[in-house]
Amino acid sequence: MRYISTRGGAPVLDFEGVTLTGLASDGGLYLPQEWPHFSSDEIAALRGLPYAELAVRIMAPFVGESLSEHELRDLCVQAYESFDHAAVTPLVQLDQQHWLLELFHGPTLAFKDVALQLLGLLFERFLKKRERPLTIIGATSGDTGSAAIHAVAGREGVEIFMLHPEGRVSEIQRRQMTTVSAANVHNIAIAGSFDDAQSHVKRMFADSVLTDRLDIGAVNSINWARLMAQVVYYFAAALQLGAPDRKVAFSVPTGNFGDVFAGYVAAQMGLPVERLIVATNKNDILARAIRDGDYSVGESHATITPSMDIQVSSNFERLLFEANGRDAAALAAQMEGFGASKALALDPAQREGIAAMFSAHRATPEDTLAAMRWAYENCGEVIDPHTAVGLHAACSMTMAEEIDPAVPVVTLATAHPAKFPDAVKQAIGTSADLPARVGDLFALEERFDTLSAEYDAVRDHIASRASGTR
Ligand SMILES: *Cc1c(COP(=O)(O)O)cnc(C)c1O
Repeated sequence: MRYISTRGGAPVLDFEGVTLTGLASDGGLYLPQEWPHFSSDEIAALRGLPYAELAVRIMAPFVGESLSEHELRDLCVQAYESFDHAAVTPLVQLDQQHWLLELFHGPTLAFKDVALQLLGLLFERFLKKRERPLTIIGATSGDTGSAAIHAVAGREGVEIFMLHPEGRVSEIQRRQMTTVSAANVHNIAIAGSFDDAQSHVKRMFADSVLTDRLDIGAVNSINWARLMAQVVYYFAAALQLGAPDRKVAFSVPTGNFGDVFAGYVAAQMGLPVERLIVATNKNDILARAIRDGDYSVGESHATITPSMDIQVSSNFERLLFEANGRDAAALAAQMEGFGASKALALDPAQREGIAAMFSAHRATPEDTLAAMRWAYENCGEVIDPHTAVGLHAACSMTMAEEIDPAVPVVTLATAHPAKFPDAVKQAIGTSADLPARVGDLFALEERFDTLSAEYDAVRDHIASRASGTR
């Protein structure tokens, strides 16, 4: 499989190249040159497979020649062994039409483990053949950081610098990052927002002070391998609910648009997806883009769903590219305008293409708390606030009969409720216990550096500490 940039000006890469690269050199994002397609019969033949085997079948066309099927199977088995549920991503029924897809059974209690546990192994496997280490630089609004750190801690040939916005991640999220003692892990708190941190990271990928000396890699959801790994659970859920003979809708708590874009990929591959519901909090740039065609950056708000406190959703560029008929030149011009004015108007073809598959809903804090209470009181399920944003959107759609009552609606449960105890307590008066597998986070020593939000300070800090000298 060959991978091309959304902006058309970067080298074409294979799967190994795209896994180790992150952002394309022209500022775009990599996508497969074409979508692999599974027929109905091929999809039906996937029913009942163990998760790791399903992952091999779904990912093999994307991996191409970069790994043998045998090697890919070894990595999938190893990645999903660390999950504490035999199904890896179990489905839980809430009522006649609504389901939860629990994606938080990995080591750091959020859905990002599903992709990052595999990505850590892919890095180690591909870097074995290389002389230089890979320096991973990432920004996190909370969950990416801990999942990425746990994926690469102690692995050979990789080091990681993770930026988080000071005071804007929960204490548990922070401790999950800062208590990891492996020497290849470096945490940096910056006095700014997640968007500041993310824009620094983007800039560092194109900064010769770093790129002349280091091989820089990404673990943010702009990394193609992450999206690819997330496609698997859309298949897993839909197959259990009757695919390919029955359509399924998904409601996805959305920040950087990675998770829901994986649902789009599943649909392109032939999975009968009725609708993808983009659920946002008060940071609603995506809801405005999908409903009104207005992709313009607003003020960044801190909410009870910090992993979705994102204004610029990097992966949305992939959808804009798909929806303009993959016209890289037009997309590059559109994104250049966006870079300058922080606003972009979708063209009519983009709006129409996107509306055919996506709906968007925004949840207020009251909606979020109400959804948590509803799940607890009516279904006995304690859910985290991010999941609740998704459930609110799902229920809004079904109550308005915008989705056929015969179509199951699966809300992606993106975090374990114990990760966000304050919001859970506020909603239902009790909180969930941390599963034993995370250990005693509050007894361990924290390690991190605090820096100003200034770009040069962050860049120089990393330049002086990275070991990946050429
Ligand atoms: C990262 C995250 C999201 C947002 O996912 P994207 O892929 O960035 O859209 C939602 N919920 C939780 C709990 C997360 O950690």
